[in-house]
Amino acid sequence: MIIQIENTLSAEQKENILSQLALIAYKATEVQTQKGRYLVCIGKKEFDIRLIGSLKGVLDVHRVSESYKLVSRKWKVGESGIDLGDGVKIGDGRFALMAGPCSIESEEQVRKVAEHLVANNIRIMRGGVYKPRSSPYAFRGMGMEGLKMFHRVCREHGIKLITEVMELSQIAEMTDYVDVFQVGARNSQNFNLLDELGRVDKPVLIKRGMSGTIDELLQSAEYIFSAGNERLMLCERGIRSYETAYRNTFDINAIAVLKEKTHLPVIADPSHGIGLREHVPAIALAAAAAGADGVIYEVHEKPEEALSDAQQTLNFAESELMIRKVRLLRDAVGLM
Ligand code: PEP
Ligand code: MN
Repeated sequence: MIIQIENTLSAEQKENILSQLALIAYKATEVQTQKGRYLVCIGKKEFDIRLIGSLKGVLDVHRVSESYKLVSRKWKVGESGIDLGDGVKIGDGRFALMAGPCSIESEEQVRKVAEHLVANNIRIMRGGVYKPRSSPYAFRGMGMEGLKMFHRVCREHGIKLITEVMELSQIAEMTDYVDVFQVGARNSQNFNLLDELGRVDKPVLIKRGMSGTIDELLQSAEYIFSAGNERLMLCERGIRSYETAYRNTFDINAIAVLKEKTHLPVIADPSHGIGLREHVPAIALAAAAAGADGVIYEVHEKPEEALSDAQQTLNFAESELMIRKVRLLRDAVGLM
């Protein structure tokens, strides 16, 4: 059960609500986000919900029996959107494209991609400066020096940036240079990291774990939301399966099912989802048709020279063609 409470709730009113909950044996956790104040309650007993709804200080009350609650669609009317400022918005009916290299490699590389994005009216650039790599000898990112440069070039072009944070200790120094924090597949269940991202005043995109279920992804999102951060989006990036013909199995089902289960924006990552450049556009189109609120993908001026994920990175011509097709398809889907 979720009880939305007034921001100005008095101590006495709160005591009264808590003692009513104790009577029906419900355990309450108070959540204060940037937007609202809630009591998230866990219990099994049947009771008349009007008992709670009529208490002073209660704005609304909803039964949510899933393991995830605040991210569930069950209590919230409509879709949650994220406002990044300067007219850049994600979700709530706005389709977002986010594109950029797998890794930030040099100022020249970032400038070239930024110009490509501006020319195609894309306002959000992706790029990792802390890279999770299977091999410790592979390129592991430019770190803070790269992030500061990435941020400066994005600002010069009127572009917002999204980048991966890999661990707790990086959050504080990164915050001023980030518009959206990305939680990678490998950290999808790093609960300490999720808790801390709940306390930052920046939106978060959380990816599905490599072998994570949809329920686990929603519970991970619940960690961030319940720690105080409502500005959240989820990302399907493919899961590990027995198939070896491509890097990951992009789970198109997850897009439709997540849209049913949560009010948060759902983003597709076709680059990691299939891992093969020639098929990235097809998967992006499929995700858009399935109802995704946006697509995040990898693009580079010379993909063959990219320091990571070259095989799944589009060049500018391929990217431009894909952007046109995805936008056309979204317009068509909107008419259905
Ligand atoms: C990335 O976006 O470059 C990345 C490492 O993604 P994932 O966490 O989905 O593997
Ligand atoms: Mn990558």
